[in-house]
Amino acid sequence: MMPRIVRTAAELRDVLAPRRADGVGFVPTMGALHEGHLSLLRTARNDNGTVVLSIFVNPTQFGEAADLDAYPRTEAADVALAAEVGVDVVFAPSVSEMYPTGFATTVTVGGAITGTLEGAERGRSHFDGVATVVAKLLLSVQPDRAYFGAKDAQQVVVVRSMVADLGIPVEIVTRPTSRDADGLARSSRNTRLSPADRALATAIPRGLRAAQDAFARGIRDPRLLTDAVRNELTAVDLDPEYVEIVDADSLEPIAEIERPALLALAVRVGQVRLIDNVALVPGVDDRIVLSPAERSHA
Ligand code: AMP
Repeated sequence: MMPRIVRTAAELRDVLAPRRADGVGFVPTMGALHEGHLSLLRTARNDNGTVVLSIFVNPTQFGEAADLDAYPRTEAADVALAAEVGVDVVFAPSVSEMYPTGFATTVTVGGAITGTLEGAERGRSHFDGVATVVAKLLLSVQPDRAYFGAKDAQQVVVVRSMVADLGIPVEIVTRPTSRDADGLARSSRNTRLSPADRALATAIPRGLRAAQDAFARGIRDPRLLTDAVRNELTAVDLDPEYVEIVDADSLEPIAEIERPALLALAVRVGQVRLIDNVALVPGVDDRIVLSPAERSHA
């Protein structure tokens, strides 16, 4: 069955009104769907009577106009993929539907969680854009559960904090990062990598994997672990914007890993800015799987 395509919040409310009894699951995306999005949608399909996918390239979370303009838009293909995984409703509003003339409200999540990592590099306004659009989407869909990827780990922390602070009645569910065979995290932006840059980008999972290997050997000093990542990146002339280890919940810097931590990085590969992360959890070995070719490269 093809999903119902809905362009306005008013129509969405009407479509969902008779379907709420068996649970509504919601997966917000910016489209250009890949396996990472599909894994969220399959989980939502499994948990709920109705699955809503939103496709909205949110201008307020982009810093550079060029990045916004270059962001892939593939709605027809996305709707076909959504049909395959059993999505019931695709909410694909226009920018003017989401931000009509006179729109003047911003949801700001304060504190360390929005000031570090992506917030430090792209500015807090990035997370203002994310928090505002996610709040608006959650109020439009009013789902029982909303699904987010660990690929954007900081976004998950910010969304959970906002939902708790505002008392939005929704369960936030996360799914692990979906990766290509060579370990590169799937991203809509990967389609913009040239073949040569796509090959260079494999240094990202190799670096994260090197840090995970060192962590598994008992190294707990964040500096040594981030150096392991940097070495892989600089070996192929990639200069990361940041490689940092922070507390997994507070996102504050830590001196030694004694509880769950997040190792996160951002690096520009050619024209494309990529982010990735892994969890470093004492007592848990959850290393990225690299293809044999990547392992021998290391
Ligand atoms: P985006 O369309 O990139 O804004 O992402 C929409 C949702 O899909 C977010 O919750 C992302 O974290 C999630 N997502 C994106 N890429 C991946 C991936 N490789 N694995 C798992 N989830 C992902």
